[in-house]
Amino acid sequence: MNIVRSAVLALLLASPVEPAAAAAAAAIPPSLAPIVLDPGHGGRDLGAIVGAEREKTIAFSIARLLKQDLSASGCAARLTRDGDLFVPLDRRVDDSLAWKGRAFVSLHLDEVDSSRPHGITVYSFGPSLFRSGPRRGPPPPPRPAPPPRQARAGARLASALTRALRLGGLPAQAPERSDFYVLKNPAMPSVLVELGYLSNPGEAARLGNPRYQERLAQALAAGLRAYFSGSPKKGRAAR
Ligand SMILES: [Zn+2]
Repeated sequence: MNIVRSAVLALLLASPVEPAAAAAAAAIPPSLAPIVLDPGHGGRDLGAIVGAEREKTIAFSIARLLKQDLSASGCAARLTRDGDLFVPLDRRVDDSLAWKGRAFVSLHLDEVDSSRPHGITVYSFGPSLFRSGPRRGPPPPPRPAPPPRQARAGARLASALTRALRLGGLPAQAPERSDFYVLKNPAMPSVLVELGYLSNPGEAARLGNPRYQERLAQALAAGLRAYFSGSPKKGRAAR
């Protein structure tokens, strides 16, 4: 895998001008295109905070573990933020497009008024049944709904991740639809995973535990591998 990647990089670096480089980038084999991992929030955008647990910190930690797990199996991955940084939502989607990502996986944690709800939910694009929470800063520029083909691919990816989480003994509920901004990615299957509820004290304690974080990362990596091993070779999101 490394030899192939080096050869492709050498070809890319040898491309003399911008348009040729763009064409070469489009020809990157799907297996070398990165899976884009998007740890929610960051920097001044704290996300949910319950007790000592912060959404932005736990999401970042799980994203890093997931990147390691994917890399270990020869699957390229990139993070939309490489630290405790504020990155606007439109930048996250635009970066994934510039990187020619083959999937977009946003990682978040939930917080509600009740301490009872618990479990994991994987969302793909669709009509939203509820409003998203208050936003920090100006809203990102509007983005249209993704093409139906990508929305369908996102739903299949959500199912694959849910199945893998359950196989890993993790409390995944049925996949759901939402019109979250980052699910409007026009070029790759996109999902948003709510990894658990910080408002549930038992689940919050688990989510802060590095061993539980590793279990989540391993199950998500298995789900991504299962999704892509079932996809036809020619397309990023052909099914
Ligand atoms: Zn969030």
